[in-house]
Amino acid sequence: MIGHSFEFYWFAFFGLILARYFLIAGGTYLLFYVLLKETVAQHSLRRSPPSSRSIWRELRLAGVSTIAFSLGAAFVLSRYDFGGTQLYSDPCQYGWWYLGISFVTVLVLQDTYFYFVHRMFHHPFIFKWMHSGHHRSGDPTPWTSFAFDLPEAIVQMIFFVGIVLLIPLHFATVIAVLLTMTVWAVWNHLGFELFPPSFAHHWLSRWFIGSTHHSIHHRSYTVHYGLYFTLWDRLLGTQDPRYEHEFAAVLKRSSPVKHEIDKPKQRTDPSLS
Ligand SMILES: [Zn+2]
Ligand SMILES: [Zn+2]
Repeated sequence: MIGHSFEFYWFAFFGLILARYFLIAGGTYLLFYVLLKETVAQHSLRRSPPSSRSIWRELRLAGVSTIAFSLGAAFVLSRYDFGGTQLYSDPCQYGWWYLGISFVTVLVLQDTYFYFVHRMFHHPFIFKWMHSGHHRSGDPTPWTSFAFDLPEAIVQMIFFVGIVLLIPLHFATVIAVLLTMTVWAVWNHLGFELFPPSFAHHWLSRWFIGSTHHSIHHRSYTVHYGLYFTLWDRLLGTQDPRYEHEFAAVLKRSSPVKHEIDKPKQRTDPSLS
């Protein structure tokens, strides 16, 4: 696919990115919301079933995000053709160990970037036009995982363009990061909690964001801004202290703790006002 016009890359990546979304997000939706509906019902984090209207809205926003991400990908490959990126194709160039190290490094950098821009998106002055689309459906589904307003999609895409210009990355590493991002985002928006209560306080898994953690963000807006890891939320005081309780409550099938998440009045981060 190397050596083509910008328009060719844009068109090809538009198809690839959209196909990835329908395959992973759509496949997960089909599995959990249709085929395994009865089996996983007791693990649900939702207050009501998803409406077809909210899913159509998310599909439209995912189309918008696909335009932004495919533009970014076309820009990167066009530059690659002229040696204008740090992308490389020989895995031995920096050693095999570097593939793993660079993969983890990009995830940590992306999580950090996302935490801070996400917190900024919740500023009252910009929330409405930058981030409200992603929050329109109070309870997320896998379709929500790529539903962003155009400005938010551009900000997220800029991370990937920046990273391949600044850090040497093998093509396989970039693909692995993009797949991890897609699968993790679908998991965060699954709407079901599949892990046992120990997940929220186990010495290792407590550092990972999952369905319950991100569902709380979709309802309360003032906590849980991270993407993959709870590190920044814990360090900067935006980790909900009732998270572990909420996690256990869902899995015991008792009603979730009474929480401001049930009344989403506060849509923005008050500390930024
Ligand atoms: Zn979300
Ligand atoms: Zn948000």
